[in-house]
Amino acid sequence: MKMLCWKCKKDMKRIQDNFHGFTLPAWKCPVCREIIYDAKDIQPILHYNKMKAAKEGITVTIGTLGGSKILRIPKLAEEIYKISKGDKLKLELGPEGICIRVKA
Ligand SMILES: [Zn+2]
Repeated sequence: MKMLCWKCKKDMKRIQDNFHGFTLPAWKCPVCREIIYDAKDIQPILHYNKMKAAKEGITVTIGTLGGSKILRIPKLAEEIYKISKGDKLKLELGPEGICIRVKA
């Protein structure tokens, strides 16, 4: 797959770049240093940032399945962290709450 810089028409290089603290695949122009992200990667992050700015957190409700308590992963989190069925998440239990780590 190739990407041409819209400014200088040069071949862009595939890189990993930091976008609002998230590491995302991106394209970088070796000449003008323009960086392009994939819309599907940045949209959920921008959406979440907007919610955060409006002081709306994400709230999930505990359900039950058999004798267990379950919680659903919100769509936005699924998109940002590219979570799919069978992925393993790591729970850290601390005095202030449960922290869910994506990379177990
Ligand atoms: Zn360029």
